[in-house]
Amino acid sequence: VRSSDSGDPGGLAIGADIGGTKIALGVVSDAGELLADEVVPTPTDDEAAIIAVIQAAAARFRDVYPGITALGAGAPGWVEYPAGIIRFSPYIAFSRRSLRDRLAAATGLPVVVDNDANLAAWAEARFGATPGASPLLLLTLGTGIGGGLVAGGEVYRGRNSLGAEVGHVIVDPDGERCGCGNRGCLEAVASGTALGRAGRALAEADPGGMLARLGAGTGTGTGVTGATVTQAARAGDQAATELLGRAGYWCGIAAASLVAMLDPEVIVVAGGLAEAGDLLLGPMRASLAGHVFAGHLREAPPVVVSRLGARAGVIGAGAFSRHVQAGPRRRR
Ligand SMILES: [Zn+2]
Repeated sequence: VRSSDSGDPGGLAIGADIGGTKIALGVVSDAGELLADEVVPTPTDDEAAIIAVIQAAAARFRDVYPGITALGAGAPGWVEYPAGIIRFSPYIAFSRRSLRDRLAAATGLPVVVDNDANLAAWAEARFGATPGASPLLLLTLGTGIGGGLVAGGEVYRGRNSLGAEVGHVIVDPDGERCGCGNRGCLEAVASGTALGRAGRALAEADPGGMLARLGAGTGTGTGVTGATVTQAARAGDQAATELLGRAGYWCGIAAASLVAMLDPEVIVVAGGLAEAGDLLLGPMRASLAGHVFAGHLREAPPVVVSRLGARAGVIGAGAFSRHVQAGPRRRR
């Protein structure tokens, strides 16, 4: 693994994590420190508006940190790497032109653009709870389920930059319909969206129960979301605890297949559902241990909560742009 720390210790980069509702931006050191950060709403008009927001933030950062030499941006959806073209995203405006080239023209900096979960996984592998662990598999459990795979210090993207889409590993082919069109993807049975849907059904069936009470008052149906289910489970509600356990069970089933394929050193769990902690991870670990290949010959890999949390996207975007800058052999 190349250490970019050795070449140019003074180097800093801007990281931008473009989300569906907000863009998180920051100044990132080669050691993975977040020196400054800000959050702005994501413009919904078009990609040019997103570029303008990042350009303005970059100018503000560079006034304070003249040592900035690169910019990295993560985007949700199908991002063709290294061209930095967003081929499809249900979450943000995109143009099918190279976002990498447009950001480079707007800022005058060398730019990398990659899938947001890939960059978060890279940050976890480099700066997370188990630095250097390889392969490292990241699962981001939020509204949807994403993921990333890092081996030997490099992101694995596959043939079409569509690798490591762990949310669409099929665990129950006769199960719930997924947003992608298939049935029983992990995302369809274990995401925050799936948890909220199951929680709403429970709240409707039991209007006096804790889920119904916690979700009340939002003015939209039962108001129950995945976060409500987590909240109820933490407060000791048995039905909510079982829903989280079910989600954890499916995550463990998916993880068992991924472990058979990849033999990762560690599985890192991030995203909103990670806040449920052992209420989710306990059943996930049990399900993984119960289904892992060659379980009588080895331990299943540890399943740990992300140390970087929501900052992983910004830190990964910034630090990875410096990593690419340091190693020309990585440019294809
Ligand atoms: Zn799917």
